Amino acid sequence: MMIEKIVIIGGGQASISCASQLRSLSFNGEICMVCEENYYPYQRPPLSKKFLTGHFHEERLLLKKIDYYKTNNIQVLLSKKATKIDRDNKKVHLQSGEKIDYTKLVIAIGSKAKKAPLSDSDNYSNAFYLRNLHDARILKNQLHTGKKILIIGGGYLGLEVASICSSFGMHTTVVEGAERILKRVAGEPTAAYFREIFSIRGVKIIENDFVKKINNIESEVTNVELASGRLIDVDALLVATGGYPEVDLAKDAQLQIENGIKVNERLETSDPSIYAAGDCASFNHKGRCLRLESVGNAIDQGQTVALNIAGNRTNFNAKPWFWTEQFDQKLQIAGICDGFTDIIERKVKDKVSFWYYKEEILLAVDSFNDPYSYMIGKRLIEEKKSPKKEILRDINFDIKDALSLK
Ligand SMILES: Cc1cc2nc3c(=O)[nH]c(=O)nc-3n(C[C@H](O)[C@H](O)[C@H](O)COP(=O)(O)OP(=O)(O)OC[C@H]3O[C@@H](n4cnc5c(N)ncnc54)[C@H](O)[C@@H]3O)c2cc1C
Repeated sequence: MMIEKIVIIGGGQASISCASQLRSLSFNGEICMVCEENYYPYQRPPLSKKFLTGHFHEERLLLKKIDYYKTNNIQVLLSKKATKIDRDNKKVHLQSGEKIDYTKLVIAIGSKAKKAPLSDSDNYSNAFYLRNLHDARILKNQLHTGKKILIIGGGYLGLEVASICSSFGMHTTVVEGAERILKRVAGEPTAAYFREIFSIRGVKIIENDFVKKINNIESEVTNVELASGRLIDVDALLVATGGYPEVDLAKDAQLQIENGIKVNERLETSDPSIYAAGDCASFNHKGRCLRLESVGNAIDQGQTVALNIAGNRTNFNAKPWFWTEQFDQKLQIAGICDGFTDIIERKVKDKVSFWYYKEEILLAVDSFNDPYSYMIGKRLIEEKKSPKKEILRDINFDIKDALSLK
C-alpha cells in the first residue's frame, strides 16, 4: 500500500494545527512542513503586544517545544521556501533546488504586509513593518522614550503598537486614511471607545487623511506630509496598513483565486488533492468569499483539513473570534458585525460590551475587559440564538439566561 505523504507549505499557526491534529488522529503517514522562516512555528499575536514590551520572551513564542516534532515524526524544513507546485507530478519545488513529493498538499502560507503608500519604504532605515519575529526584533529596538513615531494605519495592529509606544513615553501619532479607525473590522462604538482611551493617553489619532509624501535625508525618513497639508516629524515610521493573502504559488499552479485561495466547505482548493488553510484561504460565508486573519480561524481550518485528510469528511464551520490588547483594555470579539442595523450598548459597572444586530438577528459582540459577555455572546452566536434587544438593555438581566431562552 502506498504511504501517504502530506506536505504542508508554511510553518505558522494553521500549519502546526493541521500537523498536530493529524498525529492526534493517529494518522501514520509522513508529514513534512516547509517553512520559509528560520524558526519553528511560533505565535504572532504577542509580537505586537507583550513581546515588544519585553514581558514575553522569545522561547515562550514557540507553539510546540522543538522535541515535539521529533517525538511525533513531523519533518520540519526550516529556511526553505516553496517556489512552485507541480500538480501533474505532485511535487513541490524549493528555492534550494530540492523537489518534494506529496500525496496531499496543504497550503498554509499566511498573508504579507501591504507596502507603504507611495514609496518603497523598504529602503528607509527608520521605516518598519510588523509581520514576523524578525520584524518584531527590529521594531523592539526602536522603542525609546521621547522618540517620535508615526504609525500608518489605524487597524488593530497599528493601534496595539501605538499603545505600546505611548507607554514607552514616545510621541505617538496614528494616521488612518478611512473616515475612522478600525473601519474594516469593528463598528463605530468600538472605534469611539478606543479613540477616547488613546486621546486620554496623549496619542494623536488623525482620521480621514493619508500620506502624500515621505521626505527623507539619505535613507532616513525625516517627516511625512499628509493630504491635508499636515507635516509630521518622525524618528520612526511603522507601516501597518493591513495584509494581502499570499496567493502567488497557488495562482502559478492555476488554482482558483478569489480574495485568497478559494476553498470549498472541506477546505479543498480547485484541485481536490490540495487544501488551503489560514490567512491565505477564502471560503464561502453567506454567499461571499471571506478570508479571516485570526488565530482562531487558522487553528480551526488547520484541524478541519487534518480531519478531511484522515478520511473524516468534515465541513468547515466558521466561528469567528478575535482579541486585541491596547493599554489596559482587552477587547474580545465574537462573530462578524458586517451588515449590522442596530447596536446595543451594555454597560455593567466598568465593563462595556456592544452587541451588533441585523434586524432581530445577533451578529457579533465586542466586549471590553468583559470575558463573561464575550463568552455568552460567542455561544449565542454559535447556537444561532438572538435574545430580544430590550433584554440586553436591561443591566439587571443576567445574559447567561439568554442561552436558555427559546
Ligand atoms: C503582529 C501580529 C499580531 C497579531 N495579533 C493577533 C491577535 O491578537 N489575535 C488574532 O486572532 N490574530 C492575530 N494576528 C493574526 C494571526 O497571527 C494570523 O491570522 C495567523 O498567524 C495566521 O496563521 P497562518 O498559518 O495562516 O499564517 P502565518 O502564521 O502567518 O504563517 C504562514 C507561514 O508561511 C510562511 N511562508 C509563506 N510563504 C512561504 C513559502 N513560499 N514557502 C514556505 N513558507 C512560506 C511564512 O513565512 C509564515 O511563517 C496577528 C498577526 C500579526 C502579524
